[in-house]
Amino acid sequence: MKSNSSTDFLIIGAGFSGLVIAERLAAAGWKCVVVDRRNHLGGNAYDGINAAGVLVHHYGPHYFRSNSQRIVEYLSAFTEWHQVSYTIKSYTRGRYWSFPINLNTFEEFLGREATSEEFSAWLDKNRTDIPDPKNSEEVILSQVGKELYELFFEGYTRKQWKLHPRELDASVCGRIPIRTNRDNRYLAESFQALPKHGYTAMFEKLLNASPGVELHLGVDFHEARAQWTHKHLIFTGAIDEFYDRRFGPLPYRSLRFEAESFTAEQLRSRAPISGKPGFWQPAMQVNYPDFEVPFTRIVEIKHATGQQIDASTIVREFPKDWTPETEPFYPIPTPEARAAYQNYAALATAETATSFIGRLATYRYFNMDQVTGMAIAEADKLISRYGTNL
Ligand code: UDP
Repeated sequence: MKSNSSTDFLIIGAGFSGLVIAERLAAAGWKCVVVDRRNHLGGNAYDGINAAGVLVHHYGPHYFRSNSQRIVEYLSAFTEWHQVSYTIKSYTRGRYWSFPINLNTFEEFLGREATSEEFSAWLDKNRTDIPDPKNSEEVILSQVGKELYELFFEGYTRKQWKLHPRELDASVCGRIPIRTNRDNRYLAESFQALPKHGYTAMFEKLLNASPGVELHLGVDFHEARAQWTHKHLIFTGAIDEFYDRRFGPLPYRSLRFEAESFTAEQLRSRAPISGKPGFWQPAMQVNYPDFEVPFTRIVEIKHATGQQIDASTIVREFPKDWTPETEPFYPIPTPEARAAYQNYAALATAETATSFIGRLATYRYFNMDQVTGMAIAEADKLISRYGTNL
């Protein structure tokens, strides 16, 4: 690669945060170079058609949702949407359960019909009195009590994080809604939809609409820094890596995905379980909270994408330890990990010509809409500092 090229903004990482900030800065007239060491764009939201012809999310399911009309409108410039009411189930004690916990789950638990009033009274009697829940165990115990906590949360969380729920921030399990009505939806946000033709297609359109953005795949950040002089660097990778792990590595949790595809013929025998032809399981996602089962969930994304195809693909997710050779999927939401991050955050704050945005660079368990919002906000800040170049 030739050296000594120049750009206005050099952006490391072609995921949500890197591509959105590039689009915003390019719209203000600035030249942006985006690099990613992987050979595809989209970061972990990267999706595509697999060998069986099924549209799959290559790094685990990405369920877009948002309460921000502004963020949805922004992304709508690059995609149409396929509205989905995301629904999932849990599988334990040899059967499928409605999940997140709601009145239907309570009826399944009792083995008979019940009312919201009865469920509320049951919760009042069974929940643990914890006025200010400080961790993920307390946040669930304080809402539903020990029995439902053990059934649905304890084993799943221990597998997913290799930590006990009481060691994790309240926000981790607190993400999951608990309802006394029959609302079965996984998520609570007002807008729930997937990009109609996938995330990859959405990002390709974003790039096509941004002639000021150059994308270079298979280029790592050290190479990029040597290659392009720039006025400002935007880093969306892991912050400890940016600083050569000088205070030690930050902890991450990783995942291994095991995909299995089925033909229409093979799926026929699953119809009594999935409830409809052409599907392997009864919902887009089934969680397996039992600690003895080595995976946490099975995702059959065709339920959500609405793709019209006879075949289907399921993906089992096995949590695993992070090593420098694997993708760091999740920052670890514990007080200790956050304290370790603060050492790096202090360095980042002192930088004058580098911005840190996104899940890995800010070491936060963000959703895609939040990352989009963060990238737009940082672009606005940079435009007010450097002006426009129109
Ligand atoms: N969780 C659980 N049981 C479940 C689903 C979730 O204990 O059936 C806990 C688990 O700790 C998980 C957290 O709630 O990490 C957040 O779940 P979510 O489904 O939002 O996780 P993500 O899709 O972000 O991995």
